[in-house]
Amino acid sequence: MENINIKDLSPTELEEFVSNLGEKPYRARQIGKWIYKKGATSFDDMTDLPKGFREILQDSALIPSLSLIQEQISRDGTRKYLFELWDGNRIESVLIPDSGRFTLCISSQVGCALGCTFCLTGRVGRIRNLKPSEILDQFLHVNSRSSRPVTNIVFMGMGEPLDNLDNTVGALKTFTHPDFIGFSPKKITISTSGLVPKIKELGERISVNLSVSLNAPRDELRNEIMPINRKYPIKELVEESKRFPFPNRKVLTFEYVLLSGVNDSDTDARELGELLIGVSCKVNLIPFNEALPLPYKSPSDARVLLFQRILIGYGLNVRIRKNRGRDILGACGQLAAAYPVEQNLKNLRKNVDIQPLRHKASKGEYENLEAK
Ligand code: SAH
Ligand code: SF4
Repeated sequence: MENINIKDLSPTELEEFVSNLGEKPYRARQIGKWIYKKGATSFDDMTDLPKGFREILQDSALIPSLSLIQEQISRDGTRKYLFELWDGNRIESVLIPDSGRFTLCISSQVGCALGCTFCLTGRVGRIRNLKPSEILDQFLHVNSRSSRPVTNIVFMGMGEPLDNLDNTVGALKTFTHPDFIGFSPKKITISTSGLVPKIKELGERISVNLSVSLNAPRDELRNEIMPINRKYPIKELVEESKRFPFPNRKVLTFEYVLLSGVNDSDTDARELGELLIGVSCKVNLIPFNEALPLPYKSPSDARVLLFQRILIGYGLNVRIRKNRGRDILGACGQLAAAYPVEQNLKNLRKNVDIQPLRHKASKGEYENLEAK
């Protein structure tokens, strides 16, 4: 039998694992504390476990970690981390310091299958799901290197977390268990493009914050820019999201990426206002982060402000998200971990002239980016 990566096991699975090895379930909490609170990297360090049990653990499990291969620092203080996985795949995480908060944006997949036309990760296509350990390690690495502890975690890096639900939930259980990482569920946000049945399932399995990437006020447009909408239309998505069990005093968030001339008109704002009027929610407007070879433009500041003002007229709580880390391609939708992104063209918006990527990014070029 292959040795198991202990960080792939949720707290309950770790209890089962130690029971199967003939030990009491509370040993799982001891192991959790060693790994997640004290940073132990070997079972030998776990001095309050019986020596014989430590030897059994050594023969049956491992505590490996991701390799951090690069850290880039933006002019605005945002940091982007590039990790290499055991199979050579790469993922990125982004740390955003902002007025007292240290928000870590983590990845849930290598690439993404959902092909939203404005997102660079979507252009990579789906490569594979991350395992729970690979989700957790992004936090463990960054938190241990950071000058201040991470205060918030958002699943807004590469991938669609609900397209990797089991591993995402497994990692969330470890994040939130008091004897493991002990992170407050109120400070964790899952962002989704709208896999409706999975939103329901997530809510049945754990209570954290939910952010829905809406990006269009009507099906016709959303079908074009977010192909998942053809399967789960807007009304269904909004209804299911309203039922989500939020932690105390927390409300649903809708993200809306503003694409110049595509979804940012006064009519779009009014339709969005009509759709969300009376829904207890926050709306975050994200001016599109430009990234080659995506065929969109960011709207002017004046357009963004007007869009916001119209929505406020509907009684909505609307904020404009600052674009952080754009200069290091660390902003929303710019994460591609140096994968070639010319694939996955078939879902792209009709009637838009897509220029092929001028060159394929490689690991070497990624490093050059930093030098610029
Ligand atoms: N798959 C999930 C989480 C990752 S994307 C989701 O879609 O929600 C995280 C956020 O980045 C989403 O709100 C998405 O709409 C936004 N985004 C994607 N590409 C973007 C871009 N080029 N500019 C600005 N935001 C973008
Ligand atoms: Fe995937 Fe989210 Fe990007 Fe859409 S916006 S392609 S769901 S990562």
